[in-house]
Amino acid sequence: MHVLGTSGHVDHGKSTLVRVLTGIDPDRLREEQQRQMTIDLGFAWLTLPSGEEIGIVDVPGHRDFVENMLAGVGGFEAALLVVAADEGVRPQTREHVAILDLMEVPGLLVALSKIDLADGPEWRTLAMEEVASFLASTRFAGSSIIPVSAKTGEGIPELMSAIAALFGAMPPRKDLGRPRLAIDRVFSMSGFGTVVTGTLADGPLSVGEEVQLLPERKKARIRGLQTHRQSMGSAVPGSRVAVNLSGISVSEVRRGDVLVKEGTYDPTARADILVRAWKAGEESVENQEEMKLFAGTAQTLARTRLLGEDRIRPGESGWVQFDLARPMILARGDHVILRRPSPGTTVGGGWVAEPHPERRHRRGDAKILRQLAETLSQDPRDVFRERLRRAGVARVGDLGVLAGLDLSQSISVARELHASKNLIAWSGPVEPLGAASVVADVERYREWTESVLGELLRFHRERPLRRGMPRVEVLSRLKLETRWANLLLDAMAASGQLADGGAWLALAGHLPKLDDGQANALAQWNLKNQASPFAPPSWREGIQALGPELAAFYVDSGLGIQVTEDIVFGAEAYQEMVGRIKNELSARGSLTVAQVRDVLGASRKYALALLEHLDRLGVTRRDGDLRRLGPAGQGTSLA
Ligand code: GDP
Repeated sequence: MHVLGTSGHVDHGKSTLVRVLTGIDPDRLREEQQRQMTIDLGFAWLTLPSGEEIGIVDVPGHRDFVENMLAGVGGFEAALLVVAADEGVRPQTREHVAILDLMEVPGLLVALSKIDLADGPEWRTLAMEEVASFLASTRFAGSSIIPVSAKTGEGIPELMSAIAALFGAMPPRKDLGRPRLAIDRVFSMSGFGTVVTGTLADGPLSVGEEVQLLPERKKARIRGLQTHRQSMGSAVPGSRVAVNLSGISVSEVRRGDVLVKEGTYDPTARADILVRAWKAGEESVENQEEMKLFAGTAQTLARTRLLGEDRIRPGESGWVQFDLARPMILARGDHVILRRPSPGTTVGGGWVAEPHPERRHRRGDAKILRQLAETLSQDPRDVFRERLRRAGVARVGDLGVLAGLDLSQSISVARELHASKNLIAWSGPVEPLGAASVVADVERYREWTESVLGELLRFHRERPLRRGMPRVEVLSRLKLETRWANLLLDAMAASGQLADGGAWLALAGHLPKLDDGQANALAQWNLKNQASPFAPPSWREGIQALGPELAAFYVDSGLGIQVTEDIVFGAEAYQEMVGRIKNELSARGSLTVAQVRDVLGASRKYALALLEHLDRLGVTRRDGDLRRLGPAGQGTSLA
């Protein structure tokens, strides 16, 4: 499906021509019929000889309504420029063509209208020459010019064939799988409720789908869909659609809102845009200037921050970061129009390079300018790689969305980059890569692994007695989202680069190391313990004797078993005590604390501390004043 838009100076015969071509009166508002002038968008459709239907948007030509005209241009793929043969190129002919040029509308066709009023063939030739030479300095140089009269019918069949030829050569509208509908009309129909219309872009919509209205994120459901007054189950990109919504009232929606599926687009209040000042205009774009920015059917005030030169003169281009007064829905590659708020004049247009800049850019930052220039490159591989480099790691499908590629393109680019070892397939389907596969940039992946290894090395050096670095600490130092960071650590453990102890991580092969002084201190402590192994000196004393690091190592490494804050038994003594208690319990069935104290030959304090510790492990079980074997105490092994 495709959309053709009219354009041209007021009264040159646009609406009349649409009526003759389609049989539909596009001037829908009473006010227009009274004033005989188009002040807002009008809509109609046309069936080509091939059977294909073309949507038509009729725009107002009067200078007071240029901003209404802009709400229609975003949906055009081709324009029908109407120039009256008796008047020739006029101011709004120029302004409309400038806007179509700045928006990079792909196709254009000229109807030299009211040819019945042209005085003889010579006049007709002159009028055609004037239009041709005017178009020569635009992207539409060489477009067909068809002389027509809506009054006599002359040239209408030729115009029809020219329209058919124009669209016959045009590829279908791209389908990115994420529809957006820039809303140009909102009204209510009795028996139906809220209806919105617009030109559907970037993906299909179907009846029954949950949708969201941006920027306010209001929810609604599609109750019905119509294209050219025909009800449909679903609508394809490029069609003019009327959407009947349930769950939302007319007062909650307005022109400029964008209907999308939840989670596919985010409104933005800032954008990096390559601005082109209108060549034939008289005004430059200045820094810190308040302008009106038009995108889709929306408009907002926006403040400029020129990133390169101080001023963009007519015919020149430059990078501008805009701060938007009202959030908009922008995607990379969208075109925008810039106007001065008052008096309302068109100053230029722009191409959105980055709809979600990470930050406010400094002026004259060469790195940013280089990065932005790179995004201009249209080679999908470069755009994809650039996005991956910035994200570091992402799903293939999400990268495609960021790069403005459709799904099949993103998958094939990812596979190509994988084959040439420019991309690391990280998880999800690897052979072959799919939309859900997680991929990483080779450089960034290397930086992250080096950073993890470096952190671990530093940790081991500073704390040679620790088994490993707490995982949470590793995660907090890594500049990477936790979900990806955990994947990275898993991958590094799987490849043998590090040892994963769950709560801690260590370099592969790392063993705690004692120096001579530490070994000596431990030997002294063991000696001190052996004087009464079942009633060792308090652990406070132990920490003092060993120092906090060595004390932590003593417990961490299992040399000592901590049963309370202040009681740590040597491992051998602990095993001996537990063995004795279990033996006695198997033989006698139960023991009191006093009996345990006697079995161990230690004081009640130690016996009780050990029993409570064994209760917690389930080796013993308390039963009133008695202890019995617990669920974990039945076997021969220790808990
Ligand atoms: P728009 O403002 O460009 O949409 O122009 P309209 O379609 O409203 O036409 C403006 C005026 O020109 C109307 O009075 C039409 O009747 C008249 N008009 C349109 N087409 C022709 C034509 O081919 N020949 C003549 N003689 N008059 C025309």
